[in-house]
Amino acid sequence: MAKRSKFQSPTGMHDILPENQKYYKRIYDVVSDIADFYGFGKIDTPIVEETELFSKGIGLATDIVKKQMYTLKTRGGDSLALRPEGTAPIARAYIENGMQSRPQPLKLWYFGPFFRYERPQAKRYRQFWQFGFEALGEKSPVIDAQIIQIFYNILRELKLKNLLVEVNSIGDSQCRPYYKKLLASYFRTREASLCFDCKRRLRENVLRILDCKEEKCQPIKAEAPQILDHLCDECRAHFKEVLEFLDEIEIPYNLNPYLVRGLDYYTKTVFEIFLEKTSNGEISQSALAGGGRYDKLIKLFRGKETPACGAAAGIERIIDLMKSQKIKLPSETEPQIFLAQLGSLAKRKSLKLLESFRKSKIKVAESFGRDSLNAQFNRADKLGVKYTLILGQKEALEEVVIIRDMKTGKQETVKLDKVVEKMKKRLKK
Ligand code: AMP
Repeated sequence: MAKRSKFQSPTGMHDILPENQKYYKRIYDVVSDIADFYGFGKIDTPIVEETELFSKGIGLATDIVKKQMYTLKTRGGDSLALRPEGTAPIARAYIENGMQSRPQPLKLWYFGPFFRYERPQAKRYRQFWQFGFEALGEKSPVIDAQIIQIFYNILRELKLKNLLVEVNSIGDSQCRPYYKKLLASYFRTREASLCFDCKRRLRENVLRILDCKEEKCQPIKAEAPQILDHLCDECRAHFKEVLEFLDEIEIPYNLNPYLVRGLDYYTKTVFEIFLEKTSNGEISQSALAGGGRYDKLIKLFRGKETPACGAAAGIERIIDLMKSQKIKLPSETEPQIFLAQLGSLAKRKSLKLLESFRKSKIKVAESFGRDSLNAQFNRADKLGVKYTLILGQKEALEEVVIIRDMKTGKQETVKLDKVVEKMKKRLKK
């Protein structure tokens, strides 16, 4: 057998290196501040769930369940799946933890990794991060508007420009079945001209033909009956109110009759947030965030009838945009002091001195592994610190430290036990 030369991360999965962590942290900070403001409590659910939770919740005929789930058999014989999305687990947690008896709506948010067995391609990963918001136990359309507003505000707070919200209503169990029949009979008469996937969708999930991106299906789609003309009175009134709320809070949106979302649990409002145009002027195909109302999901999981609404956003896609739009992160505090040492006694005293700085919350850089003073000074130069503290053999014996001002080159010798106080004062100036 050929010898393996090296290991690689699994296809579509990546390490998040230290230089990228600041983006995840920035997004986390903005999301958790906004969640706090709007009264959402954080929830963490397990990374795996019973496979059936997703096949039942998201729908057997959806791409996610059919093609994209990582499933595994436990030693006990149970079938578990790595979570491909966050709503079904939250619906499960809501019922399991008796949250129906808490004041409603129950508002929850999450932030974590998700898994989908995607075809490897740009902007689609097999492990990706999402944050999401869910409001359970509220049927008023004001919640739909508020969820959209929260996602829009988060993306704006992260300084992303040219955002566009697309909204649609996909009806409910009163009006959707009739609309699906209409749609199926329309597409059936044109089946020969549909792409390969749409022929399958025609049998399995006719609504999904509406969001097909294939060139040849576009003219057929354009003539198809539109759901907005076939909503029942209740769904129409609900959608009208959502749009009125969006107008009131001045969120720019487009009505998109082709927006259906890839999961079966949605009812009424669905939405996605896109970038209006990419940096090279093209219309962007990939959504930053998406969600909607799911009034039947909790009941499906044997809970009581509970209207709910929520959405999720893709963190890697947001980071990509933050980078391409050259968005600056709030500045991090860089160390302004470098601690250089020479000799084993000095090294020991330096370790202790570093702890005193840490307790005073002053960042200090060092390279204790290096013994050459010159190498340490070079490092201090590279870091651009204001001061270097020098603790050589002589200083260690005399219990003093030299403070060197890197700009003026001026040096001052101070007592070891006074140096933290002294530096506090200098840095304040
Ligand atoms: P969805 O519920 O599938 O619309 O996912 C919500 C958001 O998560 C999308 O708008 C994307 O930003 C992001 N997302 C979904 N799938 C992936 C993936 N495979 N890789 C990266 N981001 C993803």
